[in-house]
Amino acid sequence: MGCHRMTLLYPGSFDPVTYGHIDIALRGAKLASRLIVSVVANPNKSSLFSVEERMRFLREAFQNHAHIEMDSFSGLLAEYAAIKGATAILRGLRTAADFETESRYAAYNRMLSAKEDSEKIDTVFIAASPKLSHVSSSIVREAAAHIYVGHAFEPGDIALAAMVMPSVRMALRNKYVKGKG
Ligand code: ADP
Repeated sequence: MGCHRMTLLYPGSFDPVTYGHIDIALRGAKLASRLIVSVVANPNKSSLFSVEERMRFLREAFQNHAHIEMDSFSGLLAEYAAIKGATAILRGLRTAADFETESRYAAYNRMLSAKEDSEKIDTVFIAASPKLSHVSSSIVREAAAHIYVGHAFEPGDIALAAMVMPSVRMALRNKYVKGKG
């Protein structure tokens, strides 16, 4: 277990959780005494999986890690982070494009988080593992939509198995096979 006083907050859509997310969460959890993985429940953004489904997958992914908790939130991240007593926000970086967006969000969250400089929240970045740097929820959703509609295209199914947990792959398959009928 990591630093005793550090609570990291890992927010994201996790629609659905991928091995890329899991890798970042587990590496982040090593630095902290507590890690909160929190699903952003944005009513204006349509998602494939409900907040409950997304949390169920996350719970399964981290079931053997007592200091990793699951939660969901909507509204201002900076405010939510303060309520949860987070020391810092955790985000993963895959590409230079991620850095562009994420550094802006980090500054924004810092600006909104507190009046006093010393209390402003920071964002901690962990670089994606090279093996997983191409993995994203949107690629998973897009691929699944084509792989499972009609028939299961086997090479695609194998590729998805390298990106998401078996239960997520099964849920994707069910969603699209059913969606077709
Ligand atoms: P959001 O919609 O908030 O970007 P995501 O669920 O897509 O949420 O991602 C949450 C966080 O996980 C982001 O910081 C993102 O950069 C990071 N992330 C996603 N996929 C990977 C991956 N394959 N490797 C490392 N970090 C990742």
